[in-house]
Amino acid sequence: MKELCPCGSNKKYEQCCGPYISGAAVAPTAEALMRSRYSAYTLNDEAYLRSTWDERTCPKERITHDDPTRWLGLEVKKFKPDGDAATVEFVARYKIGGKAHRLHEVSRFVRYDGKWFYVDGSFPEK
Ligand SMILES: [Zn+2]
Repeated sequence: MKELCPCGSNKKYEQCCGPYISGAAVAPTAEALMRSRYSAYTLNDEAYLRSTWDERTCPKERITHDDPTRWLGLEVKKFKPDGDAATVEFVARYKIGGKAHRLHEVSRFVRYDGKWFYVDGSFPEK
């Protein structure tokens, strides 16, 4: 892939989320992990989404869909690291069946053994 990274960083995929998703590198911050998970959603990468989800909260059922969501963009609003925990607030835009949606989430992350994992999210507008 020579294109820009799906996470909207304006960097090439290989110089952004690519190495995390391929397993060549470990995301150094919760924000980097969050961006790479967004990119994995755009690539429908079930394995990566599972491997970066805290096993205590990871759903048993499949995360991705056969008829994938069309992801339109990501905007990271706030990143609050706090030791081995962090929150990332973001807005993601996507389309399902031609209808546009907006997801505003504050995601929680934890770090175990130097690796960040997604825990869960809350929705400030709900
Ligand atoms: Zn990226």
